[in-house]
Amino acid sequence: MFRPVRHPAIPARGLEPVAERIIMANVVVVGAQWGDEGKGKIVDWLSERADVIARFQGGHNAGHTLVVDGKVYKLNALPSGVVRGGKLSVIGNGVVLDPWHLVREIAAIREQGVTITPETLMIAENTPLILPIHGELDRAREEAASKGTKIGTTGRGIGPAYEDKVGRRSVRVADLADDATLVARVDRALQHHDPLRRGLGIAPVDRDALIAQLREIAPQILPYAAPVWKVLNEKRRAGKRILFEGAQGALLDIDFGTYPFVTSSNVIAGQAATGVGLGPGAINYVLGIVKAYTTRVGEGPFPTELDDADGNRLGTRGHEFGTVTGRKRRCGWFDACLVRQTCATSGVNGIALTKLDVLDGFDTLKICVGYDLDGARLDYLPTAAEQQARCTPVYEEMPGWSQSTEGARSWAELPAEAIKYVRRVEELIGCPVALLSTSPEREDTILVTDPFAD
Ligand code: GDP
Repeated sequence: MFRPVRHPAIPARGLEPVAERIIMANVVVVGAQWGDEGKGKIVDWLSERADVIARFQGGHNAGHTLVVDGKVYKLNALPSGVVRGGKLSVIGNGVVLDPWHLVREIAAIREQGVTITPETLMIAENTPLILPIHGELDRAREEAASKGTKIGTTGRGIGPAYEDKVGRRSVRVADLADDATLVARVDRALQHHDPLRRGLGIAPVDRDALIAQLREIAPQILPYAAPVWKVLNEKRRAGKRILFEGAQGALLDIDFGTYPFVTSSNVIAGQAATGVGLGPGAINYVLGIVKAYTTRVGEGPFPTELDDADGNRLGTRGHEFGTVTGRKRRCGWFDACLVRQTCATSGVNGIALTKLDVLDGFDTLKICVGYDLDGARLDYLPTAAEQQARCTPVYEEMPGWSQSTEGARSWAELPAEAIKYVRRVEELIGCPVALLSTSPEREDTILVTDPFAD
């Protein structure tokens, strides 16, 4: 009788490597500059086609404004997917969560007619909480800092909450379910916080009031608590499309950003896996969001910053004011050197180049292609702050264009000089343009490569 012989290279069923059975279609969106690259529009466009939208780092300092079917939604902590029906939105363990802010944000979004239930929103049980004491510490430190040492934080307690996570003294979502654990966790945190507050001249924490606040918020958070790592692994096995929604930008990454003027989490794409509990193989495509020029909010190095009429023009035309803080953003020429660096550290497969239209009408455009440090040419920004300060940008000049690119939806609608600029950006950063954005409207986008196509 014929008996099938299993080829030794083919493992027995049940032992197949997980990755081979899975449809590869998970996309990470990551800002490739200092944030505010226009992630909101691109994430919204992609989230329509994803099954799961997951936040994997940061806190409620991210400010996304979404316009869906003419309605404007303002989101800080919630993933962009919540405003679309039939999607699972996930807050991963890599995030730090202010439960009071989240409850207010959910209420505001519900008032706009959006349904949010434990089936559509899940929060990882191992997510550390941002407590009121974190915001107080954040603001007290910024006030006490002298010029040059301020980080320019949003004052929402995100940094101190991450410090407590690493210091193993966080109150986490799961702790809200058990009163004895909750009290023990608070006491542990206060052992650290009270002496710190004394040093900064802030009154000690009102322990009982804090515990009461946590007991009160617990029943509003716990229904959404879930083993996110498990749910997402199951979704992945079922071939669902996951969109990882990054906040801030790779130049603010705690390790690879312009330290210490950085955010307090890893922002680069690798964090998407650790920030929800999936393996690194779960990331199939990394889309870097890149603005056609450069902006930065707050303090810290910015080699191509313009303190002149060109800088003002970029700021005015680009409406460069922060969504969360309202702060005026610093503006400058495109820094290809820095974006090449962030494309490398995040393994970017393709970029979405945004706000090309803001460059309309410049006679000449400059692109930074490297730095000069004491006469030596560098093709990356050195790590040492003192060397960064001495780096001067080396520019390449390109002719600008006088026609409008605003609202262009095809290459044919772009002037030849604009196409040349885009092509030069691709060459210099070593990464192709997958999407080109020419206005805040979602339709005003030129699609070259679909990140979700498998
Ligand atoms: P995010 O934090 O990365 O989402 O960026 P922001 O939302 O803070 O900044 C993006 C701003 O630029 C928003 O007001 C968008 O509507 C707008 N925007 C996005 N893409 C474009 C574009 O291609 N052209 C113009 N003019 N504005 C854009």
